[in-house]
Amino acid sequence: MDFLHFDPKDGVIPARAPVQRFLSDLESNFADRAAYRARLNENPLIYRVTSIEDYSGAGQLHYGLGVLMPGKIGREYFMTKGHLHTWRPAAEVYIGLRGRGLMVLEDERTGECRVTPLEANTVVYVPGWTAHRTVNIGEEPLVYWGIFPCEAGHDYDAIGERNFRIVVIEKDGAPLVMERSAFLRELEAQAL
Ligand code: MN
Repeated sequence: MDFLHFDPKDGVIPARAPVQRFLSDLESNFADRAAYRARLNENPLIYRVTSIEDYSGAGQLHYGLGVLMPGKIGREYFMTKGHLHTWRPAAEVYIGLRGRGLMVLEDERTGECRVTPLEANTVVYVPGWTAHRTVNIGEEPLVYWGIFPCEAGHDYDAIGERNFRIVVIEKDGAPLVMERSAFLRELEAQAL
């Protein structure tokens, strides 16, 4: 289809059904295992993506409308699984529509990590070979578009096993970016 209505507030494309990811779908995402288990009964919705994959073949695009709910598991903000593209050279453009978020980017080849804002009136370019994840650091849903080559494909496993090198946690009411290893040491020390 060449034309669709969407709602930038609720992050809905009325004509299409989203994929929903609940906490139980994000087994390896969150660093604080005890906090993760404590919320499993409740199993909150973490995010939805409505994917539009109507065209395929050389030069065509796929795109999706994402909605990431506000909330935290322990001190870590709600986030998407994150992925690399199966076809590693494939880049992606993210366009923020609503809410206050961050994108965590990690270059698979160099290991370089960076964090960019994702919110209304921002656009983020994700180059090829770069694992990407969105994080909601606000109090309302984070709504955004992602637009990418149809050949990209989603590889969740490559990043899933070791996870991103950095985490985004809340400290004194504000987001703080830190090394996962340092955060894990903090959690261990607290557990003793
Ligand atoms: Mn992507």
